[in-house]
Order: sequence, then C-alpha cells, then structure tokens
Amino acid sequence: MPSIFSYQSAEVDWCEGNFERSPVIAEYYNTVSQGTGWGHPAAASGTPDGTTFFPLLLLTPLNSLVLEGCWDGERLLSSRAGPITPGIFSMYFHMTLSYVGQLLDELSILWSLAVAYSFWYPKVYFPRFIKSRKHFFWLSGVTTIISTLMSFIKPAINAYALNCIAFHLLYLTWRELKKCQDRRVHRMAAVMVMWWVLAISSWISDRWLCGLWQAINFPYFHSFWHVLIALSLLYLCPLVIYFDVNYEMPAFRPKLSYWPSDSWPVVVPYIALEEPHKQC
Ligand SMILES: [Zn+2]
Repeated sequence: MPSIFSYQSAEVDWCEGNFERSPVIAEYYNTVSQGTGWGHPAAASGTPDGTTFFPLLLLTPLNSLVLEGCWDGERLLSSRAGPITPGIFSMYFHMTLSYVGQLLDELSILWSLAVAYSFWYPKVYFPRFIKSRKHFFWLSGVTTIISTLMSFIKPAINAYALNCIAFHLLYLTWRELKKCQDRRVHRMAAVMVMWWVLAISSWISDRWLCGLWQAINFPYFHSFWHVLIALSLLYLCPLVIYFDVNYEMPAFRPKLSYWPSDSWPVVVPYIALEEPHKQC
C-alpha cells in the first residue's frame, strides 16, 4: 500500500498527463497556473482544489486601504490571514497528486469558506433558530467539523461537494441584487457570473471530456479553471464587501470602483466608501 504522502496516491487525477514536463512535478501546467495567484479562502466561492491568490493580492490591500478605520478589526484580519493556505496546498496537490495533498487542498478551502461564512453571512439570512452571530459561529463550526470527517469517506466526491457551495453563493447574490438598484453592482455581478460559468465549464470538461482533450492533445482545461475562478473571485470579493457594508455600516454608502480607472481594459474592482447615505 502506498504512503499517503507518495506521488499519485490521491483518488483524483486531472486530465493533464503526469510527469511529462518535469520528473518532480506531476501536473506541470496545473501547478504553475495555480501559482499565478495563490488561494483566496474567504473568497468563499466553493472552489475545489484551486482558488487563487491573485484576487487576494490585488484586492485586500485596495479594499482595506479604503475601509481602514471603519472596518471591524477581526474581519480585516481574517481577510488577510486566511487566504494563503489553500493556494499553497493546491500547488502541493498538483505537484504530487498525493492523498494528503488532496485532502489538505480540499479541507483548507472548506475551512476558509467556513470562516468567510461565519464572518460575512448576512444576519437576515440566519436560520430562525439562530439568534446571534455567536450562535452562527457555533453552527458553522459544527457543520465544518462534520463535513471534515465525512470528507475522508469518499474523497473523490469532495470536489463536487465543494463546487456546490458556489450555487448557494450565487443564490445569495441573486437575493441581494433583487434589493439593489445600483447598476454598477448588477454589472459586476454579471461579470462575476460570466467568469464563474467559464471556470466551472473548464472544470467539468476536464473531468468529463478528458478523452476528447487527450485525443486532440490539449488536456489543459484544469489550468484554465485555476485562472478563471481567480478572475471570478476577483469580482466576488468586492460584491461580498459591498453587501456587508450595507448591512453592517449603514452610515456609509459603498461605491464599486475600478482601479486604475473604469475605462481601462484590465481593471481591479474595489469598494470605496462615499458620503454617508444608504443606497441599496
Ligand atoms: Zn486544481
């Protein structure tokens, strides 16, 4: 029986051929594309084995600069401290395809999502029996521990389970958009969903149509997934912060902005706090 740390001991293998470009890196392009960014946890988008750092690196400094002074210290800390691990574990997983790598990768994302939900999940959506954020912390904690234990039962389905969390996030976004008149917010959500659709299509096609991609000698859709989901998270983060400011800091009006400016073809979205007035 192979060690749980040994190469290719994971239940999951992606379409890209193993050890084709390097004797020590199992999936070269999947590993390298993960390094274009490194995992964003809070990004909370249910991204098995591959959230990327890219949005975090760009977004966290921008958003925290703008929000400095009025932001809840604990939240800021969690948004800065959490992100690093999933990206590193995901690179390690693609490099080795080891059982430990797979679980570290998936569980780091699961726990990052749990932290993000605990801090940012709007109180209005709490289940009836939850009376405070402290109770919600407990609910998230217990759910996460149970999910962690269950993840060892059939590791091959973990990635699918994690991806399903994205549907809950999309549902929440949709509910928030119904209450919001700001067209910039709707546009940003549309761009986020577009990147997510492209990302999940790449992920699924890598899983299900691998034979076809190998036949045409292009088995690289999982590395596209890494980049595309990072782009989707880049837009999700400001949206989450936008809705959160509306709930938690009603004295301020958040405004979605783009750095360096709206008209550039490549932009980084962020939140600026404007004159005190509630819009959405
Ligand atoms: Zn991956």
